[in-house]
Amino acid sequence: MSSHQEQRTRMVERHLRSRGITNPDILAAMGEVPREDFVPEEMREFAYEDGPLPIGEGQTISQPYIVALMIDAADVAPGGRVLEVGAGSGYAAAVMSRIAGEVFSIERHEPLAKAAAERIDRLGYDNVSIIAGDGTKGMPDEAPFDAILVAAGGDKVPEPLKRQLAVGGRLVVPVGGEDVQTLLCITRTGENDWSEHDLGGVRFVPLIGAFGRYENGSRAA
Ligand code: SAM
Repeated sequence: MSSHQEQRTRMVERHLRSRGITNPDILAAMGEVPREDFVPEEMREFAYEDGPLPIGEGQTISQPYIVALMIDAADVAPGGRVLEVGAGSGYAAAVMSRIAGEVFSIERHEPLAKAAAERIDRLGYDNVSIIAGDGTKGMPDEAPFDAILVAAGGDKVPEPLKRQLAVGGRLVVPVGGEDVQTLLCITRTGENDWSEHDLGGVRFVPLIGAFGRYENGSRAA
């Protein structure tokens, strides 16, 4: 069995670079962050396969290629302020912390938020804040953000997130049905202007919240 560092290097070559991810900051960050520390003990042997894995509460850590694709599309850049909705294990937040200036990541399941915060703290990623709550409302007190990434799929784009983008900032968000969604990249081009392009089909766990799919079993506003 090769070392985790060797497996990480292989993952970067096979699943990222060979599929068109060329941004050196993303390749370096994903070659550095120990994904095996973000998955349950019994899943560690699969940590460097290119697939999602269960992390508890019926949720998943996303596929490495999709993590890289979203960070690339959102143009996460040195010095930038980033908001992630759906911290899950904290892995994507940790990867972005190696590139951006400051990362805020919200998770609606408290046990996941607590475990992710402890993990991030233990690994020493001190420019990441993990917050328990409904990320569809964003974080008005910390806005504006240069990049916002949503790691769960709703049936529409949460309006507060569009408003919390800096002008020139990008929001990457899956939107569509419960089974498949389209990954959208939305750029704020002016105070009241946004442009949008489509990055292809994806399959995410549901985005549940006030501006998401459902809250407490009923349709959200
Ligand atoms: N980025 C994560 C990682 O690196 O492990 C994976 C995220 S997982 C695919 C999506 C997460 O979004 C789940 O943990 C889920 O609980 C969370 N989620 C769903 N709706 C949410 C909301 N309104 N606010 C915050 N988190 C939400």
